[in-house]
Amino acid sequence: MIYQANDQRYNRMEYRRSGKSGIKFPAISLGLWQNFGGNKPFEESRAMIRRAFDLGITHFDLANNYGPPAGSAEETFGGILKKDMMPYRDEMLISTKAGYYMWPGPYGEWGSRKNLLASLDQSLRRMGIDYVDIFYHHRPDPDTPLEESMSALAQAVKQGKALYVGLSNYGPEETRRAAEILKELGTPLLVHQPNYSMLNRWIEDGLTEVLQEQGVGSIAFCPLGRGQLTGKYIDKLEHELNSGEITLKPQAVTAERLSKFRELESIAAHRGQSLAQMSLTWALRKGGVTSVLIGASKVSQIEENAASVSFPALTEDELKRIDSVLEQ
Ligand code: NDP
Repeated sequence: MIYQANDQRYNRMEYRRSGKSGIKFPAISLGLWQNFGGNKPFEESRAMIRRAFDLGITHFDLANNYGPPAGSAEETFGGILKKDMMPYRDEMLISTKAGYYMWPGPYGEWGSRKNLLASLDQSLRRMGIDYVDIFYHHRPDPDTPLEESMSALAQAVKQGKALYVGLSNYGPEETRRAAEILKELGTPLLVHQPNYSMLNRWIEDGLTEVLQEQGVGSIAFCPLGRGQLTGKYIDKLEHELNSGEITLKPQAVTAERLSKFRELESIAAHRGQSLAQMSLTWALRKGGVTSVLIGASKVSQIEENAASVSFPALTEDELKRIDSVLEQ
């Protein structure tokens, strides 16, 4: 059946400006890292993208190596674009990245101009589109001059193959230098994509400050700690502790961890939220994080997570209680 987007799709989602740019991200964005590969039924992936878009999620985050197998998430997404989403292309922000291993030999990973531009061409072919909205360098390359990697990003924009550029997994000082180089090249850095959640707060130690100083936005990946900050994980943890059938990493299965997650869950329940929803509200609590980039394996997870924007901000008291649980 021909897809017709829900005409109420912009009524509930919140949109936030990325740094000092002209671009707004939905507060909740959808990542296609592990659940949209060639090993998943196409119709399930299609249903998730359709539902996300109907809920006002306009941003879809990919990378050359997403799958599995690597490259197949872009192919799946390209198939969905072709079948359903092309009429809405101008309502969507599509990103991809290069930097991790993609093909053999010296040019298949890291940050040379050769790698980045060849990889972007491959990504565009897999998705069947002429340009991406954001092209990221996926990780810093210790052996390539930063000027070379940044000028490759700027060149992608000059070639019309990307509208904006981003960095991921860069530390504070290399982000500052990269942002300054990009500014000189006339292609300001739009956004940084760091790992950030209640379980991983490294950006609070310098990166957030650099991004604010440089007028750059940020989109937090793994805001649910790869599923740990959800009821699903807690139930599994409890089951494994009780039954002794351990499939989660052994260090994850401890009574202390379980009681911490249960306490967080109870703070969320007092707010009428699930733990997943509160974790997203938490990650978005300061202006510094523009959007949270969720993963999902089911439509219902996308629905639950998207609904997090309709809850009030965390109070000072709730934030203190969360901190005290995390510090235990
Ligand atoms: P999350 O922390 O959001 O974890 C997602 C997982 O949590 C889902 O796959 C699902 O697990 C579970 N989940 C999500 N919502 C719910 C819910 N409401 N209830 C119960 N369980 C839920 O993020 P990811 O680790 O998946 O990463 C998100 C995105 O971030 C990626 O797709 C990618 O775009 C980006 N990313 C970027 C990286 C980078 O280096 N730049 C690195 C890693 C990610 P299950 O599948 O088991 O159901």
